[in-house]
Amino acid sequence: MTPRSAQDTEPFCWCCGRDKPETELVRLGSHPEVGVCLECARWLQRRARQRHDSRHPGPSARLRGGIDAGRDLVIRKGWHRRGLLGALLRRIDRYLP
Ligand SMILES: [Zn+2]
Repeated sequence: MTPRSAQDTEPFCWCCGRDKPETELVRLGSHPEVGVCLECARWLQRRARQRHDSRHPGPSARLRGGIDAGRDLVIRKGWHRRGLLGALLRRIDRYLP
């Protein structure tokens, strides 16, 4: 993958580097030249939430930590790529924090 820059004419995600239509990008407020695709925005949101939870521990933070551990296990085992089981796990993941 070649490095991307603001001079590129086609819209792309500044996180994963993939070309994306403008409708699938979220622009940063103070730097509108920077766009992040919806998948990477969700990944960033989860990372921000994990960092927030680590600074503000509590029952809900522990519950979300358990969900994150389950998600990590599924990804590590590759279960999310297994046919019908993978489709079900990916669908469930859409509704998890
Ligand atoms: Zn992306």
